[in-house]
Amino acid sequence: MGLSTAYHLARSGCKRVTLLEKKGLFGAGATGENAGGIRHQFSTAVNIELSKHSIAMLREFDETMGQPIDLRFCGYLFLIDNELDLKSFHSSVLLQHALGIGTEELGPNEILDRLPEFNLEGVIGGTYYSGDGLADPGGVVQGYASQARRMGADLRVDCPALEIVTAGDRITGVRTVHETIHTQNVLIAAGPWSSPLAGQIGVYLPVQPLRRQIMVTRPLDIDLDRMPFVIDFSQSLYFHPEGGGILTGMSNPNESPGFKTGLDDEWRLTHLSAALHRLPLLEGAELQTEWAGHYETTPDSQAIIGRIPEFDGLFTCTGFSGHGFMHGPVCGLLMAEEILEGKARTVDITPLRWDRFKQRELADEFNVI
Ligand SMILES: Cc1cc2nc3c(=O)[nH]c(=O)nc-3n(C[C@H](O)[C@H](O)[C@H](O)COP(=O)(O)OP(=O)(O)OC[C@H]3O[C@@H](n4cnc5c(N)ncnc54)[C@H](O)[C@@H]3O)c2cc1C
Repeated sequence: MGLSTAYHLARSGCKRVTLLEKKGLFGAGATGENAGGIRHQFSTAVNIELSKHSIAMLREFDETMGQPIDLRFCGYLFLIDNELDLKSFHSSVLLQHALGIGTEELGPNEILDRLPEFNLEGVIGGTYYSGDGLADPGGVVQGYASQARRMGADLRVDCPALEIVTAGDRITGVRTVHETIHTQNVLIAAGPWSSPLAGQIGVYLPVQPLRRQIMVTRPLDIDLDRMPFVIDFSQSLYFHPEGGGILTGMSNPNESPGFKTGLDDEWRLTHLSAALHRLPLLEGAELQTEWAGHYETTPDSQAIIGRIPEFDGLFTCTGFSGHGFMHGPVCGLLMAEEILEGKARTVDITPLRWDRFKQRELADEFNVI
């Protein structure tokens, strides 16, 4: 979010853009730990619109940013195992159709045709969209970083923002270990770390870190060319082809908020047994790598983006609740519009504004993994 915003600000002619990264390299937060999925299949109009714009930008990324991002439109296939979810997905598909996204609803036999390797026990239906897929987060980070720098943005690593400085109800700067940078505008885009930064100046950002785990197998001796990104929705269990093997993740519904660096071994076993049940061929697979990262989760599983009216010059772009990589491109553009023109205009971000928590106008995103 930070790099995309820095790029779009610099590209729009903003002369003094500074990005502060506390770690030694870019993309070492949630962005470097994600599964690379990009999809249009959401339940709220605002997320579908963000995806439409973002994925269109990713389609042109290689050409416009001079950086390959291994874009693959393998499709996303959601597996559904109960009538309640089937009904919700049906409503979402109608909304997706109204917004120009041609998601298909599939019966069990059609799913079996597409997923012959899977054990579809209990599955009563599914949805599939061919315009969903995968992209390489490292490439996207690299593309924004090099182009933002080329356009004059000052990108600093090993430089944590220690404190946002204010005078009355105005932003006046950011303090780092080296200096205080004087500025009238600050965007908090610190992913799962955003809440404490805002809290220092009395702004409550309801963003909590939640650990999420991923495993990747070594290359398998099978053809994965036709395999989509598969999500067993009620179990929050997913699979996609990765480097000739399979990447799988599963969200622990009982995970408590907080930064936990290691893997949860008990959950690892739960995940493994659910994954083997759904995709039995994993039995012969060898583990290549695994890791834990953190979602930046909000109470309605929706991002919090745009101006924070409590302070003149304060903005945020965080809280993407597990689907922020895919929305990075358009959100950087929206933040540049909000900061430079006063209001984001490419997408109506009203449902994602911070004020919704004050006004108690929450519309949960249902299609969250
Ligand atoms: C396991 C997993 C799987 C996921 N899968 C997907 C997926 O398939 N598709 C998808 O779209 N999304 C996915 N996500 C979510 C996605 O990764 C995030 O929503 C997105 O990367 C958030 O980007 P960000 O820029 O807001 O945060 P980050 O990438 O975390 O960036 C925030 C940066 O701020 C820095 N920082 C923090 N505090 C400070 C400070 N005080 N000063 C300076 N710098 C600071 C951090 O070091 C970090 O680099 C997944 C996430 C996880 C954990």
